[in-house]
Amino acid sequence: MIDQATVSRIMEAANIADIVGEFVTLRKRGVNYVACCPFHDEKTPSFSVSPSKGIFKCFGCGKAGNAASFLMEHERLSYVDALKYIAKKYGIPVEEKELTPEQIRLNNDRESMMVVSAYASKFFIDALHHSEEGKAIGMSYFKERGFTKTVVEKFQLGYSPAKRSSFSDAAIAAGYKSEFLERTGLSIKRDDGALFDRFAGRVIFPVISLSGRVIAFGGRTLQTDKKTAKYINSPESDIYQKRNNLYGLFLAKQAISKTDKCYLVEGYTDVISMYQAGIENVVASSGTSLTEEQIKLIKRFTQNVTVLFDGDAAGIKASLRGIDMLLSQGMNIKVALLPDGEDPDSFARKNNAEQFHSFLDTAEQDFLSFKIKLLLGEAKNDPLKKAEVVHEVVRSIAVIPDRITRSIYAAECSKALEVEEGVLLAEIANIRKEKLTAEKVETNRERELSEPPEASPVIPSFVSNIFCNDQEKELLMYVLKHGREELFKDVDQEGTEQIIHVDEYIIQDLVNDKLELQNLQYRRIFEEYYREMSKYNPQENSAESPELILLKYFINHEDPAVASTAANLLTDPLMQGSGIYEISKIWNAHAEVEINMAKAVLKAIATYKLKIVGMARHKLSERIKEEVNESEELLKNFSELNEQYKLLAAYLERVVC
Ligand code: ATP
Ligand code: MN
Repeated sequence: MIDQATVSRIMEAANIADIVGEFVTLRKRGVNYVACCPFHDEKTPSFSVSPSKGIFKCFGCGKAGNAASFLMEHERLSYVDALKYIAKKYGIPVEEKELTPEQIRLNNDRESMMVVSAYASKFFIDALHHSEEGKAIGMSYFKERGFTKTVVEKFQLGYSPAKRSSFSDAAIAAGYKSEFLERTGLSIKRDDGALFDRFAGRVIFPVISLSGRVIAFGGRTLQTDKKTAKYINSPESDIYQKRNNLYGLFLAKQAISKTDKCYLVEGYTDVISMYQAGIENVVASSGTSLTEEQIKLIKRFTQNVTVLFDGDAAGIKASLRGIDMLLSQGMNIKVALLPDGEDPDSFARKNNAEQFHSFLDTAEQDFLSFKIKLLLGEAKNDPLKKAEVVHEVVRSIAVIPDRITRSIYAAECSKALEVEEGVLLAEIANIRKEKLTAEKVETNRERELSEPPEASPVIPSFVSNIFCNDQEKELLMYVLKHGREELFKDVDQEGTEQIIHVDEYIIQDLVNDKLELQNLQYRRIFEEYYREMSKYNPQENSAESPELILLKYFINHEDPAVASTAANLLTDPLMQGSGIYEISKIWNAHAEVEINMAKAVLKAIATYKLKIVGMARHKLSERIKEEVNESEELLKNFSELNEQYKLLAAYLERVVC
């Protein structure tokens, strides 16, 4: 959490042309700069940056914002990470909210593990490029595979010398603690206490997190004997969970956004070869079947995934389930089947970039049609087997969240399978009903945890002073009474689980949406809350909960107005009647803790935004009435507000049920 004063300081220091210029080649035109837009494909520049206003705007695709929103959009950083990025660039110290000693220890440990990993990566790169052994063995292997110098550098490939303790010895000599060498799995401790290297004698493929840090490694042996495992990987650790990472995503993310498509392949060498062939929007799940977390990662950049299969039927059948999971996340899935005996890596080596591209364009087919063909081919004319195929295909369709997509597929499959459409639809409905009952809790949770739509982007700047006391009061109440409770878990840039507390979520959401409480008393309490919260040290005050300490702080506030506002807030009968706060009372009694708390908080935020947008819409309609000439701008504003209002209302309907 970064305090508001620091946020302002950071944004004031930010030179938008500097920041955008790091990622886009800008040309000066008058007082502004122009470039080809990084957010959509274009040949003539319609992307403009105004240093005096501190904003960018693309007249082609309409994307616009300030330095922080550019980083959020372009680098997919969170708001806080974007701010930190700018702060670092301009040397502004950022003090974050104090953490508990436990959190500090874990963060420090994680940081130490990342530092060790960064050191290891450098060590392996250095060994590959500069040691005789590395050049003779590692580099010649990469050359033989056809990797260019450029991709070897881009993917930060390396080599771990064959002597069993080369790396561990060097790391210890350089002052790294054996604890972190072990916890990252880079070194393994023998019974006699000596450390040896996990990856000795292997070429190294580092795994890079979404924010660009090395968090794990894969190592390929150069020996041909069958007893040695071809690949070994870093074990799971505090900084690396396989299920939260995709190999290559760091390098691919921009290409994925830009092409609105992601190719999914099996492993390290496939990613690298395709990248080298000019297909940069490619990632791998690295030896495991795809996880839900990995799908969510892809979904941050695109909904369109093309899975590349090599021609081996057993392998394909084994991956069909994983693909159903992609469907169930609402992704559009295509598959491309490579010619017999080829994988993406070998195919890329035999064909040039153009050939690879044109192959993908022609070979790509819809996943379900592909699945039907594959299964029907096996069933031949056996009616029982064919029935099985129908069930199998229906199961896949049933997981697709969008009703219209489901019905389109049902129609197509009816033709391909020669089964009446009505029969398919009925079966799909059956499966969905069963599934929904079985997973009721799960789906409720998913639905409730989706975040409320934004309010501010559609509010015209001349509409100000929107007061909605009740809703502001309610938000404040959640912060004061339940601030330190867990709202839900999230996965951060490095792929680690983070607990999001009620107070953090509320403030972050308001900051992201650029909303400020209008009631000055409330705003003051809101701001002081964060100041006090960050002073709180759980060890010193272990007898009392942070909530209680803060409550006391406000109720005994030196400013009597604040004290009485706080007291009123906490005893306000209006809140009990509002129906919204009721939910958190259920929370106290019930086992389904998070669901109700998350529901209540998200609902309170959405209600607040609905109110703001509704009032802004009203103000605007008044203004439109006053205008003599019909202003297109105002009407456009009005329809945007109206749309957003509907979105918020629809969202609220979903959270209630
Ligand atoms: P070869 O030169 O014999 O083809 P390879 O290094 O290309 O070997 P494959 O056996 O062809 O490896 O494996 C296919 C893909 O899966 C490659 O991209 C490889 O990097 C990846 N892969 C194989 N085994 C693992 C593993 N245990 N962990 C992670 N990735 C793996
Ligand atoms: Mn291979």
